[in-house]
Amino acid sequence: MANSNAHQAAIEAFREQILSAAKSKTPLSIEGGGTKFWYGNPNQYAKLNTRTYSGILEYQPEELVITACAGTPLKEIEAALKEKNQVLAFEPPHFGDQATFGGAIAAGLAGPGRISVGNFRDFVLGARILDGKGQDLSFGGKVMKNVAGYDVSRLMPGSMGTLSLLLEASVKVLPKPAAAATLRCRISQEKALKILNEWAGQPLPLSASCWIGNADGDGKLTIRLAGAVAAVKSATPLMSAQVNAQIVSPDEAEDFWNQLREQNLSAFTSLGNDQTLYRLALPAACGSLSIPGSENDVVLEWHGQQRWIKAPGDQATFDAIKKLASSYGGHATRFKQGSNVNPAFERFTLLSEQTHSKALEAVQGRLRSAFDPAGVFATKRLP
Ligand SMILES: Cc1cc2nc3c(=O)[nH]c(=O)nc-3n(C[C@H](O)[C@H](O)[C@H](O)COP(=O)(O)OP(=O)(O)OC[C@H]3O[C@@H](n4cnc5c(N)ncnc54)[C@H](O)[C@@H]3O)c2cc1C
Repeated sequence: MANSNAHQAAIEAFREQILSAAKSKTPLSIEGGGTKFWYGNPNQYAKLNTRTYSGILEYQPEELVITACAGTPLKEIEAALKEKNQVLAFEPPHFGDQATFGGAIAAGLAGPGRISVGNFRDFVLGARILDGKGQDLSFGGKVMKNVAGYDVSRLMPGSMGTLSLLLEASVKVLPKPAAAATLRCRISQEKALKILNEWAGQPLPLSASCWIGNADGDGKLTIRLAGAVAAVKSATPLMSAQVNAQIVSPDEAEDFWNQLREQNLSAFTSLGNDQTLYRLALPAACGSLSIPGSENDVVLEWHGQQRWIKAPGDQATFDAIKKLASSYGGHATRFKQGSNVNPAFERFTLLSEQTHSKALEAVQGRLRSAFDPAGVFATKRLP
């Protein structure tokens, strides 16, 4: 159990830092473990570090909910869950040893399991924050039944520190699936997307998918089945037969899904200095795409709804990729930049560039002025 005096002192220090920033009208860049500093638009503002506010506050395995301070190491959360055979089912990437609970929530990123269980936002039940006036506010609850309706805590995932300082969050957890199997086959992108969409519409325990290959040729499709023992046992031969797949050993499978989540596979690590790793978020059932300037090792996750491509980092390429994603109703992000790519380039598709998101700009403006009238969190990490 965390030390409440130390916690109170940490909150007071945060409040002082926020009030002083509000007074001087200088934004603060919130930082947890600093493992995702490269994600989003860069800035040079002074840091507010959350690691002094650390610890699991409450874990009720029988209620499937954990409440922890933002500065708690993510690995500490996952270790506590592992003891009770539970998991963060959307598999948030760590991108480094020091990843914190709050940083993972603020980044809002999810790993391979996201396609079957939902994103981080779906799992946040409640949050305690300090706003730009230093007010200590709590939203939502700690129990699953308290999730109906619109909830401010749901704004924290993906907010990248631009709305308020997240102090604590309660997150829904799930039991680890009773059984899992990983299958792999060689198949073209087009065929992989077709079969994944067919499978996704059937009552199969399809938990994750990843296709890696040359956009115009064959690649390797890896799929994970997870769920009840009987479901995985009956689906494994059925699905393998349809794509002529082999079963991957449990150790190799675990390693593969971890490496995919952490982007340690060579398809990610081979990013050239002049390249950018682009992330395309696309609606379900979007077919294979021809990406301008992209090279080998296109990575498709989430049955094609999340795609990673390496292509030149210049503005013209990003514009073309954004246009392509938008033509299918999706959006694109400059996720990681090669060392020679201008770090000042805007990393996201602007809301104004997305037809269906235009109305959100006004809502976002109002939210930001309510939470943060002095612009303490206006670091522009998000547009
Ligand atoms: C305060 C705040 C401000 C933000 N401002 C911006 C901004 O200006 N520009 C920006 O790009 N992002 C912005 N974001 C992030 C944006 O909200 C997320 O990118 C959005 O929630 C979509 O989530 P996702 O695609 O990252 O992942 P998820 O929410 O996990 O979405 C998963 C999947 O849903 C589908 N999907 C999601 N979005 C779309 C879409 N637009 N079209 C089609 N399918 C989709 C795709 O299949 C996608 O892969 C902001 C977030 C917050 C909290």
